[in-house]
Amino acid sequence: MHHVAIIGSGPAALTAAIYTARAGLKPVLFASSVTPGGELMNTTEVENFPGFPEGIQGPDLMAKIQEQAEKFGTEVRYEDVEELRLDGDEKVIVTADGTEHSAHAIIFATGSAYRKLGIADEDRLSGHGVSWCATCDGFFFRDKVIAVVGGGDSAMEEATFLTRFASKVYVIHRRDSLRASKIMQQRALDNEKIEFVWNSEVSALHGDDALTGVTLTDTVTGDTRQLDLDGLFIAIGNDPRTHLVHDKLELTSGGTIAVDGRSSRTSVAGVFAAGDVIDPTYRQAITAAASGTVAALDAEHYLADLAG
Ligand code: NAP
Repeated sequence: MHHVAIIGSGPAALTAAIYTARAGLKPVLFASSVTPGGELMNTTEVENFPGFPEGIQGPDLMAKIQEQAEKFGTEVRYEDVEELRLDGDEKVIVTADGTEHSAHAIIFATGSAYRKLGIADEDRLSGHGVSWCATCDGFFFRDKVIAVVGGGDSAMEEATFLTRFASKVYVIHRRDSLRASKIMQQRALDNEKIEFVWNSEVSALHGDDALTGVTLTDTVTGDTRQLDLDGLFIAIGNDPRTHLVHDKLELTSGGTIAVDGRSSRTSVAGVFAAGDVIDPTYRQAITAAASGTVAALDAEHYLADLAG
């Protein structure tokens, strides 16, 4: 039986791995089989992670953090967790091939998933002009006209990045002021290729084999109009990824995993949670990493108490 199993592979999970590995707990970390590394794998330049004054590419940062975790003895398994059994002192992790792994403590750091608009044809046109990842798909839109939906940092970052490829980038936002930080706003507002479409929601997607345009509804007047587009990038935030535990751990009204005060302790003894899956507010790489540290220290104390 493992001392501690970590589920996730973003900054929270890998930082928890560094700390628990250095504490001699030989953590096993379940990274996804398809998309390990978390949100930063879809980011370009990370300019605000301390220690990198020149900036660092998101995937490079994750590779370095993972290298650090493995250096101290973390076992990384590229497998999908299908089921968790959390009752009792022995926690059981069931992976996609049906294998069962057990651990005394679990650190749950599965992050969050892209939010969808929730309109017709969104899934059908996904990968055919509709995307959630500018760094993955931007290249396909060279000299095309595209739009980004959203008014937060993600939307500003994606729109600015996409101007490297596209001839024009609309930013469609449902209000007339942005949620994004000032520096990210300004960068987008100053970019000549970006045009803001205020007080507008995407209410319909058009196109048979690929996206050809959208219907916009004015959120103030209710008027509708058509906008021809080759691509639409949706950057309207994320939802915590809790499907493995939604009936096993207490959740908050916002859908994140409930933890006890500033700790990482969930409603089940021996199960700790960290990163975006508990944080509806800050959701930065550095706060996720800090949260992973908290979970590692809480798990260490729990295991010490368990050992008596
Ligand atoms: P966010 O801050 O929650 O912003 C989501 C945006 O999408 C908001 O403008 C929101 O509009 C809009 N929105 C939400 N649901 C919508 C819907 N159904 N239809 C249309 N619009 C919708 O999410 P985020 O931009 O992904 O950022 C999340 C966190 O990551 C933030 O803390 C951010 O600072 C951080 N982040 C940081 C960086 C960086 O520093 N480099 C980069 C990316 C993200 P309203 O404004 O009207 O609510």
